[in-house]
Amino acid sequence: MEDQGKKLVVLACSGASNTGAYSDLAARRLMAGGKGKMLCLARFAVDPKFAETSKRELETLGDDGELVILDGCPVNCAEEIMKKSGFMKYRHINTTDFGIIKGKTPVTEDKIGEIVKAVIH
Ligand code: SF4
Repeated sequence: MEDQGKKLVVLACSGASNTGAYSDLAARRLMAGGKGKMLCLARFAVDPKFAETSKRELETLGDDGELVILDGCPVNCAEEIMKKSGFMKYRHINTTDFGIIKGKTPVTEDKIGEIVKAVIH
């Protein structure tokens, strides 16, 4: 079922590994396609004011908005940072759930597309 016009706020772990790259590239593709707005994950770790402002913006969207967290492995850096910033309601997706093996699977357009499709459907 498609997210009927939901405004997605996307946070990616953007890790150095292939799986982290997948999280980052999928988030960027969502943003480029007008499906989501990507925010800087690192900023949540260092800027509580930014976290508060982002939380309020998300609350304003209500059911029309959704926080989507993309991580690249079970360490779940993005999810942990967002939880520490006080975000408890979100959809969590791990790129390793798409048959991508950390340190092995090459980054391909097709796989990025698969992740993007899963986020918007
Ligand atoms: S979740 Fe995994 S891939 Fe992403 S930044 Fe953390 S350790 Fe790296």
